[in-house]
Amino acid sequence: MKLKEILEKFGTVDGSFLIENLLGLSKTEIFFNHKMDVPKEVEIKINEIYEKYLDDYPINYLIGKKNFYGRDFYLEEGVLIPRFETEILIEKILKLGIEFKRILDIGCGSGIISLTLALEIPSSTVLGIDISTKALSVSNKNKDDLKVKNCRFKYSNLFESIEAESFDLIVSNPPYINAKDMEELDNKVKKEPELALFGGEDGLYFYREIIKKSHNYLNENGYIAFEIGYNQGQPVKELLSFNGYKDITLIKDYNRFDRCVIARSMI
Ligand code: GLN
Repeated sequence: MKLKEILEKFGTVDGSFLIENLLGLSKTEIFFNHKMDVPKEVEIKINEIYEKYLDDYPINYLIGKKNFYGRDFYLEEGVLIPRFETEILIEKILKLGIEFKRILDIGCGSGIISLTLALEIPSSTVLGIDISTKALSVSNKNKDDLKVKNCRFKYSNLFESIEAESFDLIVSNPPYINAKDMEELDNKVKKEPELALFGGEDGLYFYREIIKKSHNYLNENGYIAFEIGYNQGQPVKELLSFNGYKDITLIKDYNRFDRCVIARSMI
């Protein structure tokens, strides 16, 4: 099997991702070596991967890796695949220029938000929580791989297991897909856990729950920052202003859809 055949089978993007990871070649090396033969054992592995790929398994699960904010994160089936759009949330939080001391990440998944903030704000202490034990084990592996000291992960159903702790920033990319959109998910997305995607009938369940209880865990003038769905800007903004938040800022993604919201507690 030649590199060219892999690129044809998987398409250029997924094909080169696969080659880069299985053969350690760079994009440029791939470009100039289309006719190169791959070793037999790699060919066998690629054929195994291809069977699952045809069954709509996302390439990131098959390789077990996804890059986020310039770092590689370990990944496995059962946790959400980090999305590029979530980097916007990180960027906007960092742009506030505040050295948050204590940060809570609700629904940490693979740990991308918790660990990225911990690394970008070294003076902070981050707690990432999740209801999924699979998510917690993946997060902990990423913490070890990235050698992050100022972050820990803990099992908690939303705030349930958080005792007498308060934070300067609560951040979350909660499940936010509504019942109707869940029915129209792409086959690849259907391979991701429903637990990480489904946000209740109207997709707003977790924003309601988090915002309602957030003041018990947020320090005076603390910040809250969410990733949101393309049509959730207005309803989440209303929830925030109704629940005592000010300076509510909606942020759009590169497709001009509302993607994040950041606000400050008045309480
Ligand atoms: N925080 C993780 C992420 O942004 C997981 C989010 C989730 O599972 N909904 O990828």
